[in-house]
Amino acid sequence: MLTIGLTGGIGSGKSTVSARLAERGAVVIDADKIAREVVEPGTAGLAAVVARFGSTVLGPEGALDRPALGRLVFGDEGARGDLEGLLHPLIRDRTRELLADAGREAIVVHDVPLLVEKHMGADYHLVVVVGADEGTRHARLVRDRGMSDADAWARIRAQASDEERRAAADVWLPNEGSVEEFLAAVDRLWDERLVPYEDNLRAGLRRTREPVITLHEPDPTWPQQAARILARIGHAVGERAVTLDHIGSTSVPGLVAKDVIDLQLGVASLEDADEATFVQALTAAGYPRVGHVAQDNPKAADGEPQVWPKRFHGNSDPAVAVHLHVREVDSPGWRWALLFRDWLIDDAAARSDYEDAKRQIEAKGLSMEQYAQDKEPWFDEAHERVEAWAQRTGWRPVRRREGAT
Ligand code: ADP
Repeated sequence: MLTIGLTGGIGSGKSTVSARLAERGAVVIDADKIAREVVEPGTAGLAAVVARFGSTVLGPEGALDRPALGRLVFGDEGARGDLEGLLHPLIRDRTRELLADAGREAIVVHDVPLLVEKHMGADYHLVVVVGADEGTRHARLVRDRGMSDADAWARIRAQASDEERRAAADVWLPNEGSVEEFLAAVDRLWDERLVPYEDNLRAGLRRTREPVITLHEPDPTWPQQAARILARIGHAVGERAVTLDHIGSTSVPGLVAKDVIDLQLGVASLEDADEATFVQALTAAGYPRVGHVAQDNPKAADGEPQVWPKRFHGNSDPAVAVHLHVREVDSPGWRWALLFRDWLIDDAAARSDYEDAKRQIEAKGLSMEQYAQDKEPWFDEAHERVEAWAQRTGWRPVRRREGAT
């Protein structure tokens, strides 16, 4: 099952997207609709709300009077907390029921207006955000929903900012132009990303990789992409992830890189990483094991073992490339990944040398594996410089879990 979190500011066009994706075959779960259903007349949810807040929250027909309830909880943190405590478990259980009914092969779209505000992004394989600037959204709310000018602004201002939404978005769907253009973009997302992602996920396959590597100018969104993915990976494997870090060239600001997000998951022991539940959890999250990669080349000289063991996972999303390196915390390979990153971040000359080396290798038109092999001599040479830097600066690896929400 592929799960998509869909959100966007009020009036952005979110319902337009969910309707189109439903037409294309997605199973849409509408969070607002569930929130209404659990307090319909005759439900245990409504009875619990009345027991807590009194019968003044009921209208003449015995249905929930939302504005009346809203006035009772407005500005009263305790009352709001009580209400959420009553409704949240009911909403969660109903959502789980609908998810279970959707079936293994479904592409589920969870339409959640407050997904960003509630930090729910790590619950999904991808977060899709519909974007339209505030002025556009305001005009739509006044034109199509009959809201007053002030009401529309108040609703918009009560929500997350566009900046917060952008940081949460794996897919940003701009909706400033015509509806036709917008629907065509939604169709492309479905055909080119969601369907092939689900195909890969179901088969436990990693994405098809480009035959030849190319270097990209630094993309300022790489760290945000990494943080979102790390949060999902942390969710999938729980406490078995002792450390989670963005490593490799995309973690070094200003460095050209192949468009691959390298991540490191530190485990207490590689035995943890070989448990079936660990491998299955990552596969279901979209990060299947690549069994034939089980080692790094040692970067140090004498006295080291022939190989540094690790485990390796690729990813199923066709639109981004992720390499997940699983290493034992405090092992030489784990330490090297963090040290090399921190050295490059600190040392501009090192970045420039590394960039030159990469450009020379890129010019040969190599595959990912060949490219990685061709870079090895450069690492061997850099090794002394890196360790000298570590000595000089007193560098120590820090154990942390990036991407925690
Ligand atoms: P949301 O669910 O995000 O609040 P809707 O999908 O209901 O937003 O869209 C808000 C209003 O704007 C609707 O009346 C919708 O038909 C209209 N709308 C959506 N996209 C466009 C567009 N590209 N151009 C003009 N109107 C649009």
